[in-house]
Amino acid sequence: MTSPTTTDQRPEPPEGDDEPSDADLVDAVRSGDTGAYGTLYVRHARGARRLAGTLVRDRADADDLVAETFAKVLATLRAGRGPAHAFRPYLYTTLRHLRYDRLRAEQKVEFTDDLSRYEAGVPFADPTVAQLDRIFAAQAFARLPERWRAVLWHTAVQGESPAQVAGRLGLTPGGVAALAFRARERLRQIYLQQHVAPGDAPACRQVATRLAGYLRGRLARRARTSVDGHLATCAQCRAALDELSDLPAAG
Ligand SMILES: [Zn+2]
Repeated sequence: MTSPTTTDQRPEPPEGDDEPSDADLVDAVRSGDTGAYGTLYVRHARGARRLAGTLVRDRADADDLVAETFAKVLATLRAGRGPAHAFRPYLYTTLRHLRYDRLRAEQKVEFTDDLSRYEAGVPFADPTVAQLDRIFAAQAFARLPERWRAVLWHTAVQGESPAQVAGRLGLTPGGVAALAFRARERLRQIYLQQHVAPGDAPACRQVATRLAGYLRGRLARRARTSVDGHLATCAQCRAALDELSDLPAAG
């Protein structure tokens, strides 16, 4: 894929000249200045809440998740560990991990029949898919059309060849391979899209629905141009894209 040039720039939050950078604040927290953490909180709580809102339906649960995330990162910094400069990506990654941990602990994830087989311990054979977080990959998988799931199930999960699968699905081996390719691409996009924390403005929300396709180089030209235009003017959406590009399914 072609990687969008905008991902090269990790935008700092809006700051005046006299505002300390995130890196300065992280250093201050490590040196025992808890007040500096308050500034980091004010700067990043809104984004963290937005991300939590995409991962948790219940508002109170989302707020809990954000609070727990900030507490955990603070403890990490006080212990002298954690990020050197990239505070926001570290915060967001911590938030995602806490969410996954909680889901596993509570076993709240509901699986379809197909996914219960998947959860029974059969790994995806596709190396990229194999890197994806299991729960989010499973949720993305559940959202694929049934026929696509069937093709992926037989080829990527069961490891059957297109020729073996073709007859059962009424396709040619070439048709199976093509459909499997499209299904894997779609799976990555759905997975990525699950991690988009949409902005508040209507224009941002529209762009948010296209970010995964944009990142994977799969948008039609017109849509791509429109996203490019918005990204050029919106630091928030550039930041959202930046977050996505850190995920294993992005490449
Ligand atoms: Zn935007």
